[in-house]
Amino acid sequence: KRIILVGPPGSGKGTQSPLIKDEYCLCHLATGDMLRAAVAAKTPLGIKAKEAMDKGELVSDDLVVGIIDEAMKKPSCQKGFILDGFPRTVVQAQKLDEMLAKQGAKVDKVLNFAIDDAILEERITGRWIHPSSGRSYHTKFAPPKTPGVDDVTGEPLIQRKDDTAAVLKSRLEAFHIQTEPVIDYYSKHGLVVNLHAEKPPKEVTTEVQKALS
Ligand code: ADP
Ligand code: ADP
Ligand code: ADP
Repeated sequence: KRIILVGPPGSGKGTQSPLIKDEYCLCHLATGDMLRAAVAAKTPLGIKAKEAMDKGELVSDDLVVGIIDEAMKKPSCQKGFILDGFPRTVVQAQKLDEMLAKQGAKVDKVLNFAIDDAILEERITGRWIHPSSGRSYHTKFAPPKTPGVDDVTGEPLIQRKDDTAAVLKSRLEAFHIQTEPVIDYYSKHGLVVNLHAEKPPKEVTTEVQKALS
């Protein structure tokens, strides 16, 4: 299957992704994770992306389309994938359709993590992540066994620099203005399933499984 996850920052896309990936054996492509790795490694891509990311603005379409185009060539992504955080603009959605059309493929389903903005600040400011795997925790809703330490590897957790209330405001603005039209774009093709992303993680997982069954 070729699945897209769309939703505002903190809506739970990253939390649900591993479960979908394990169940359907797909490749998971998260543009945010790939960009942060590029920033940390100070690659040319990372250097170009950093300023927009720090401000909570979107990185240019050309840069992200380039990374996705490259990543989708991986053998593990041929049979299907989960795109987490891409496409975030209608231009990106159109480019994705073009890339897939070349392989005679198309998007199967778009999961919309629908949630009220008011819930997101607490989720974002309490988020801790394990950078190399992308696993996320929450100080209140999903605490690690030992504070500040990844359950699986024992490595340290970090807080993302853009996970502040102030930067969240810009990220939400970008979501409403630039990304919501992407949901309309896919709705016209009848591909969107709306999830109740404000519910507890397990209930959201059940909705995800229903949507994909
Ligand atoms: P979240 O998980 O909080 O929704 P991400 O980790 O997906 O956020 O993205 C972090 C930042 O990376 C975004 O604020 C944006 O600057 C950049 N980014 C990620 N994906 C895209 C994309 N598809 N288009 C443009 N910018 C992106
Ligand atoms: P996204 O990838 O959409 O930005 P995450 O999956 O990283 O969002 O979730 C943001 C934060 O909220 C994380 O700290 C995560 O542990 C927590 N979280 C995720 N889903 C839920 C949920 N259904 N209820 C409460 N907290 C959640
Ligand atoms: P600086 O701005 O001090 O040079 P970096 O560019 O290395 O720091 O990283 C900026 C922030 O991005 C870090 O504080 C951290 O929160 C986050 N970060 C760095 N690398 C990763 C990664 N691989 N995955 C997720 N977040 C990361």
